[in-house]
Formats: sequence, structure tokens, C-alpha cells
Amino acid sequence: MSIRVENLNAWFGDHQVLQNISLQAVDKEVLALIGPSGCGKSTFLRCLNRLHEETPGATSEGSIMIGEENINDRRIDSVAVRRKVGMVFQKPVPFPGLTIFENTVAGLRLSGVRDKTTLKTEAELALQKAALWDEVKDKLDAPGTSLSGGQQQRLCIARALAIHPPILLLDEPTSALDPISTAGIEDLIKQLKKTVTIIIVTHNMQQAQRVADTTAFFYLGKLIEIGKTEQIFKSPQKTETQKYIAGRFG
Ligand code: ADP
Ligand code: MG
Repeated sequence: MSIRVENLNAWFGDHQVLQNISLQAVDKEVLALIGPSGCGKSTFLRCLNRLHEETPGATSEGSIMIGEENINDRRIDSVAVRRKVGMVFQKPVPFPGLTIFENTVAGLRLSGVRDKTTLKTEAELALQKAALWDEVKDKLDAPGTSLSGGQQQRLCIARALAIHPPILLLDEPTSALDPISTAGIEDLIKQLKKTVTIIIVTHNMQQAQRVADTTAFFYLGKLIEIGKTEQIFKSPQKTETQKYIAGRFG
């Protein structure tokens, strides 16, 4: 499913951190968000699944359309929104004390699924989608935290995918990982985009070019430029984008 953001503004208290952002993430494509630290990339992602409002004093305005529904409308339950818009964070964080299996089905259990056969089937499916099944199928009862960093991040992706969200947000998902695990996650992103719309924040320009169909450059809370990834990197239209890509700031 596509997600279309119109005139999104966001604040922490009276500090405005996103200014009039409008953009679209197209169905079954990868959109990369790039830009210097503090420019609002994480805040933008956290608005898309209504996590932003969980911070005391944090507010947002504007519409976030998924299909015909504005999921930024406060009358819409944020928990329901998070079932449609999954999120994976920078640091892999399996729930401590839970097994690999329990981690994978945690979201399903929260949404009320109790049937053991269903949970098992869904766990296998999610772990397969996250390209982790073969490595863990014989140790589903081991703690999630016993896995390597790259495996833990794929477990977090499996946990997000288990509830079948049409949209998946990834906030610098490989910045804590080694190059081999990073390559694994990038391959996975290319697989996943066949069925899920993905928005990824990355500070790695090569990564954006490897995985993203479209790239958006954010600076000081504003969307400066968005376009086909190749165009953004080969012929950026705005001076700020050119400077950032050339490594002159950020
Ligand atoms: P990025 O992900 O691009 O590094 P963020 O979205 O994390 O940027 O931050 C955008 C701005 O919001 C920054 O100025 C940052 O200091 C501020 N900010 C982020 N989180 C909070 C918070 N919990 N409370 C107050 N200000 C915050
Ligand atoms: Mg961030």
C-alpha cells in the first residue's frame, strides 16, 4: 500500500522539528530518507506509525493517508495504526527473557491471537520472510538475545512482519551491524519490497543507492528534495542536496 503524507508538521513542545512535509512512498518500493543528524528523519518515521505522540509534549499536524484513511486523525486508534505500519529500530532489541519463537509472535499475541497452531505457522512464515528460519528452526526455544547482532535484527524484522503490516519503517537498521550482516539485511529489503512498502532511514549513501527506488533528502526539518535515487545522487537539483551528497556536511 502507498502512504501519502500531506503538510506534516511536528513539534516537541514549542520546538518545531518538521515543517510542512509532503511526500509519497509508493506501493512495493523502497523510499530512503537521508540527511544530517537531527534533521528530523526519526521524528518523521515516528509520526508515520503514531509513535511521536507517545513522547510527552510531542504533537503533529497534517495528514498521513494510507488508502483513503488519514491515520494521523486522533479518532483513529494508534494501536490499529501500528498493525498497519511496522517499525524496526537502529539497535536490534529482542525482548529480553523471551525465546526466539516468543519474540516472533509477541505482536500477534498482543493482538489477541492465542491458537497454538496459528502462532506456529505465523512464526515460521515471518522467520522465513526475514530470512532467518533456516538458522533458527532447530532452536526456537533459545533466548532471542542469544543470536548474533545481524540475526537479532532479522528477528526484530520477523517480529514486525508477523502481523502482516503493508508498510514497514526501518530507522538506520544496519548502523549497529557488521558489513556481512548489513549485506544480509539489504538483500532482505530487496526481497521484502515485493510485498511491503518500505521506508528506510540511512546515513549510508551507498546503502541508499543499493536499496532505494526513491530517495528523499531532509535538512533542518524540511524536505529539500525527493526523486528517483539515481537522479538524487547523480544530478541533485538543490545546492543543499549536492553539498550533503558530496560529504561537505552531516
Ligand atoms: P534525525 O533522526 O534526523 O537525527 P530526530 O528526528 O531524532 O533527527 O530529531 C529532530 C529534532 O528533534 C532534533 O532537533 C532533536 O534534538 C529533536 N528531538 C528528538 N527527540 C526529541 C525528544 N524526545 N524531545 C525533544 N526534542 C527531541
Ligand atoms: Mg534518527
